[in-house]
Amino acid sequence: MRQPSVLIIGAGATGMLVYIKLREAGITDLTLIEKADKVGGTWRENTYPGIACDIPAPHYCYSFEPYVWTHHLAFGGELQEYMEHVGRKYGVTDNARFGEAVTSCVYGDDGKWHVETSKGDTFAVDLVISATGILHHPKWPEIDGKDDFAGAHWHTARWRHDVDLTGKRIGVIGTGSTAHQVIPELIKGGNEVSVFQRTPQWVAPVPNIRFPEWLRRRWQRKPERMQGWKAAYRWLVQNVFINATVGKWLPNQVMNILCKGHLLRIRDRDLRSKLRPDYEVGCKRLVINTSFYGAIQKPNAHLITEGIEKIESGGIRTKDGRLHELDVLIYSTGFHNFNYMRPMNLVGRDGHRIEDSWGAGQYRTHRGVLLEHFPNFVLMLGPGTPIGNNTIIGIAERQMGYVMQLIDMWRNGETDAIEPTSKAVEEFANYISAGVKDTVWVGGCQSWYLDASGQPTIFPYDWDEFLRITEKPDPSELVASAPKDKVA
Ligand code: NAP
Repeated sequence: MRQPSVLIIGAGATGMLVYIKLREAGITDLTLIEKADKVGGTWRENTYPGIACDIPAPHYCYSFEPYVWTHHLAFGGELQEYMEHVGRKYGVTDNARFGEAVTSCVYGDDGKWHVETSKGDTFAVDLVISATGILHHPKWPEIDGKDDFAGAHWHTARWRHDVDLTGKRIGVIGTGSTAHQVIPELIKGGNEVSVFQRTPQWVAPVPNIRFPEWLRRRWQRKPERMQGWKAAYRWLVQNVFINATVGKWLPNQVMNILCKGHLLRIRDRDLRSKLRPDYEVGCKRLVINTSFYGAIQKPNAHLITEGIEKIESGGIRTKDGRLHELDVLIYSTGFHNFNYMRPMNLVGRDGHRIEDSWGAGQYRTHRGVLLEHFPNFVLMLGPGTPIGNNTIIGIAERQMGYVMQLIDMWRNGETDAIEPTSKAVEEFANYISAGVKDTVWVGGCQSWYLDASGQPTIFPYDWDEFLRITEKPDPSELVASAPKDKVA
């Protein structure tokens, strides 16, 4: 078998997995580049109060590295500890190049990727695997007067731990999954908290249970005892939370009952109607939370729905003319979800740029990982990947199994260029768009699940279907290329 040189971009949960799996497969010419100073990705970057993963922890970890979690929904700090533990144990931490960003990847006539980094270093490699994640470029909203605010202000993904919030009047813009986690913590602190809501969210109540010490000790003694729990969580996520969104009647009804029943925790009718969405349950990414509704009813919490007119030095003026005076302003306004590996300069075969493919706001891939015109470039968790309320780690593991088979085709000399045909990309786009009509994502809301043309950027079918399409590469979907000499 010939051995490829591989460059991996990113040492978050997915990049670490890629590194570990390539090493396991005997590929040794590996370069792993990470822009930050340590592994962890999302869990390194997001440190806001209340941060937790709303996917059950026994399901949100590598299949080959079980962990004895303290809670069934792990907190951010514990997840980061886990990432660092995996990084140390599997040699990622010792071998990654930290503090360096990939700025350019250009496919050359020599069939190699020519990569440049922020440190001015260059590499020529056979294969690039981009594992940059999706939600990592904080989005600052376009609101008039944003720069006029006199007090401290920041985005939730860049939490400022140096600002003492005691006794401060705090404004939070946004009511997505992040806001639902951070707002109760701010309210709990006794501060006056004003929540600026543009669109209400459906909230599924999943309590965060602490695992009892005796159970954790049992798991520590024999980690295989966790398998049953893991399987139960997997079943729940796949059959209830995912299926509720992709056209399965029963789980959808269960989710409706859960969310609508949960809303009844709001005792004041006026407040309840402000918090009641007018779109289908699950249309926007479902929020999983049990503390927000209790917190927003406290006397020091204020839900503001009049709409933001502008930001002034002293606070936020809403469309009804009222100025909400604030000392601190927190943006919980999400991410640029369609950046993927960008802003790097990505140029494929025949000078084809990624903007040539994606410029119109349609994000096409082949089976979520391959791009037409970009041979031997793999985009982990690319458009068409099942994201929703599911484990990123499990999805990445499945994709890596598919990608390894493609790499083996290259290693065996069956192909020189792992690249999908136009027909395959077209067919995959049609297959994805055919699924959207059955989903709740077209249930009357705006969300990052759909691109500019209304096509889903996530997978609109159930988990079994995802397993089917990532089972085995179909050589007829790849651009044919003359194999180089096979090396015995
Ligand atoms: P988000 O879901 O995109 O929410 C952004 C919020 O900001 C929305 O409420 C949005 O209102 C509001 N907003 C944006 N621009 C605004 C403007 N100009 N004026 C007023 N409001 C504005 O972001 P997020 O909460 O950070 O979550 C992003 C994703 O991260 C989630 O979908 C999820 O996939 C992931 N996440 C996961 C977890 C977990 O535990 N696994 C936790 C947190 C986040 P509109 O709804 O009206 O646009």
